[in-house]
Amino acid sequence: MFIDSHCHLSFPELRAQLPEILQAMQEARVEQALCICTTLEEFDRVHELALAHEQLWATVGVHPDNEGVREPGIEELVELSRRPRVVGIGETGLDYYRLGERQLADMEWQRERFRRHIRAARLTDLPLVIHTRNASDDTLAILREEGGFNSAADELPLARGVFHCFTETVEVARAALDLGFYISFSGILTFRNAADLREVARFVPLDRCLIETDSPYLAPVPYRGKTNTPAFVPHVARQLAEIKGLEIEAVAAATRANTLALFRGMAA
Ligand SMILES: [Zn+2]
Ligand SMILES: [Zn+2]
Repeated sequence: MFIDSHCHLSFPELRAQLPEILQAMQEARVEQALCICTTLEEFDRVHELALAHEQLWATVGVHPDNEGVREPGIEELVELSRRPRVVGIGETGLDYYRLGERQLADMEWQRERFRRHIRAARLTDLPLVIHTRNASDDTLAILREEGGFNSAADELPLARGVFHCFTETVEVARAALDLGFYISFSGILTFRNAADLREVARFVPLDRCLIETDSPYLAPVPYRGKTNTPAFVPHVARQLAEIKGLEIEAVAAATRANTLALFRGMAA
């Protein structure tokens, strides 16, 4: 049995074919999928999926790429995260890929938003789903500051979570692992030009690996370029098994156990 730790079934292109997707998941032995929230405006749709389908679960958060959307307050994140079948906070983090004319100094709103998510995650002891792109130094620095790693001054639990759709270096992976975080690999791992990422996957211990589709994006080989769905997550598992010289069943079991250990609500 496989778990897809990160998908966007609330996006229109997937929601329109939900019955077919759930059927395909069953046939591919994908028993659970975590539906990731990217705006507060979208939260009800994500949450409804988790309430209506026993194999689906939800998070709450505002993606760093989303501008002109409602800003999440700490209290609102905490309150929404306490709804049934909400098992994590995110996706959140930093994304400096689409700076355009802006400087890093102009992105303070993203960093502030990320800090609020981390505070909410510590207040609820829920895991963070972290998105980082072209921004790993700041992502790690803010995580250390807000996550409780730099100070023993407060009573809150340390931040915990996963770096999702990992495309960073071994050094960034090591820093994330040192903070106790998991690393999640997507279909990118199967792409022909992703040799560096396969080296990172070789480095990350299996007991800290998660797998995901990030569907509808990033369909793994042999479906590259097509609409991705959680039913394709076994292709990520197969690639990870090949990299680690293991049977796919061992990777399925380990990543499933890791996902349930991190997103404790999904084990209930
Ligand atoms: Zn993301
Ligand atoms: Zn995502």
